[in-house]
Amino acid sequence: MSRINARLTNHNHSTVAIHANTLERDLGSFDMNPMTRPNLDDPHFQEALAEKARAATVMLRHIADEFAPAVFASSLGAEDMVLTDLIHQEKLDIEIFSLDTGRLPIETYTLMHDVEKHYGAKLTLYYPRHELVENFTRTHGINAFYESVDLRKSCCYVRKVEPLQRALTGKKAWITGMRAEQSATRDNLLLREFDTVHGLEKFNPLSEWTEREVWSYIRTHNIPYNKLHDQFYPSIGCAPCSRAISPGEDIRSGRWWWENPETKECGLHVKPI
Ligand code: SF4
Repeated sequence: MSRINARLTNHNHSTVAIHANTLERDLGSFDMNPMTRPNLDDPHFQEALAEKARAATVMLRHIADEFAPAVFASSLGAEDMVLTDLIHQEKLDIEIFSLDTGRLPIETYTLMHDVEKHYGAKLTLYYPRHELVENFTRTHGINAFYESVDLRKSCCYVRKVEPLQRALTGKKAWITGMRAEQSATRDNLLLREFDTVHGLEKFNPLSEWTEREVWSYIRTHNIPYNKLHDQFYPSIGCAPCSRAISPGEDIRSGRWWWENPETKECGLHVKPI
């Protein structure tokens, strides 16, 4: 067994359990996660949060009015639940879509179902082209993404980037739930930018939100979210490429954890150099 496979086998079958036990011992229980269970009692904080939500709503309404057809690319993360709620509350004409890579955690599929029930609206799903997936796995193997950054990016291209290109075809703008403080690769994130790769406007209405604000909105409005967040998964992507983190770690450190922080994007948000 190779070193990377030994690490991954260890991670998949025992490290998570050990990790969970350690965290439970350190923090009492998962219910004490300070991000998913924020203190909501501060009225000044709540007023500031309400103002930020109003500003995000104004931006979303402007996008719907001025950039039709506009779409929201939901990765079903915590931020995406906030934007989903704002779009549905205002009944904005913005299509919400997600990319079903075929490797998502079961909790994410449960959330898709819960979101559809909660808002009484279907989520538009895009899938990888089956011939590309078949060619990738027959050539490189089912878990080839662990072997090199290039193969990981190739898998992300087949399962995410190519479907995204189809989802954005013919659109004037797209919206994401990205925030500037999420990682080293996003610290210059703007509220609005022109996406030269896909040739349309791109809006990040929650760019300046903090993680506490996101979770306070979710808790205050009692909206659905991915239950993996309660198990210290602040950032959730495909199941084999996401893991729980320890308190104090960078919130994106559980994504492609075997890579350097500088490489940790899947190709959905790249800019030409
Ligand atoms: Fe493939 Fe992992 Fe990228 Fe998902 S996150 S598309 S499984 S490399």
